[in-house]
Amino acid sequence: MSHPTDPNCIFCKIVAGQIPCFKLLEDHETIAFMDVNPVNPGHALAVAKGHWPTVDVIPPDMLGAVARSAQRVAQAVMKELRPVGVNLLQANGAGAGQSVAHLHIHVMPRRPNDDVMLNWQPKPGDKAEIEVIYKRLKAALA
Ligand code: 5GP
Ligand code: ZN
Repeated sequence: MSHPTDPNCIFCKIVAGQIPCFKLLEDHETIAFMDVNPVNPGHALAVAKGHWPTVDVIPPDMLGAVARSAQRVAQAVMKELRPVGVNLLQANGAGAGQSVAHLHIHVMPRRPNDDVMLNWQPKPGDKAEIEVIYKRLKAALA
């Protein structure tokens, strides 16, 4: 089955072999390669072969395939590089920090004091407010 592509997309070009990458793995639905701007050594990306920009539009099976590839890469990173931790990160939209509009999951090894700003201090929310949002989302899921 052929996947949608966008001729102007950098990841579509990598999938098509038009731009080189350090390819870690490839299967029918996905490719994984090293990020050119690693936050830490071993930072890699698991990428859908098809051009779907965000999590809301990618077919569930394809998202599952990207998650499987991210898991395989994370396992290799953990075994081989022994980081203190690994974040899997998947951004949707510029407001979430997405710079390439082609769905991918970052596999980000963590190092002590690496200044990667992903962690936040939990602060208890307003229960009534949580419930209002909960009801809206529950209705959207019905
Ligand atoms: P986003 O910001 O969309 O979550 O992540 C996009 C990632 O793709 C960035 O971490 C960026 O460094 C990486 N990236 C952008 N262009 C290229 C490229 O041409 N090759 C590789 N290997 N990574 C890229
Ligand atoms: Zn693309």
